Amino acid sequence: MQKNHRHAMMVANWKMHKTGAEAAAFLARLRETGAVKPGGCFVVVAAPFPALAAAAEAAHGMDVGVAGQNLHWESEGAFTGEVSGAMLAAAGCTYVLVGHSERRHLFGETDEMVHKKVRAALAAGLTPIVCVGETEQQRAENETELILRYQFERAFWGTSAEDLLRCVLAYEPVWAIGTGNTATPAIAEGAHRFLRHCVLDIFGAEAAAGFTILYGGSIKPGNMRALLEQPDVDGGLVGGASLDADTFAALVRTANVS
Ligand code: PEP
Repeated sequence: MQKNHRHAMMVANWKMHKTGAEAAAFLARLRETGAVKPGGCFVVVAAPFPALAAAAEAAHGMDVGVAGQNLHWESEGAFTGEVSGAMLAAAGCTYVLVGHSERRHLFGETDEMVHKKVRAALAAGLTPIVCVGETEQQRAENETELILRYQFERAFWGTSAEDLLRCVLAYEPVWAIGTGNTATPAIAEGAHRFLRHCVLDIFGAEAAAGFTILYGGSIKPGNMRALLEQPDVDGGLVGGASLDADTFAALVRTANVS
């Protein structure tokens, strides 16, 4: 489906799950379900680094993009354990997650690092899927909009409106990730509308109308439709419910038709 020319998108974030063989088996099953189809929503799977090449090979010819879950901002060098955007592209990726809350909160990723990663992803020809979101405490203290505006501004500082439209934003309230506490459709829409207003403010009306903003946080087949019915929610970034191919296929079907 399309909202104001924005194409619906479903992204699977497998986190630290699946070997190359498991990734290939998932994609083979996803293909069998027939959920991914021309004219349907954009579908992306974010696999762990060692499974990327197998995922890209298995996704060949089936309209599924492959994403890295992280990248370093330098193109190469003495950075043990890191990978560059060019390496992800060479492994078959066209997308990369940037600033996931687990990277920010468990691995100390700062807004400055997120910004450098966005620049590096764009320079490597990848679409960054940039995650922002408030903690439970920040929401309780009425700081949600302050935090979202700050994270959004820092991530895309100095980016042109044209480049912004090569990026995707994911609103992922930290309190909703992996907790089963999905944001209500009204809470999700409130945050998405606010973020789209930030885009309008900084990048103008055309960018705001065309910019894809996903929701992430305990999405399941039972709650996806109501979220997608919100005018500013363009799709989902899915963790736990993306590990099983049939469950993810159900989410893709929902995004295809809603
Ligand atoms: C995520 O990993 O981005 C996520 C939203 O996880 P979950 O769907 O499990 O809450």
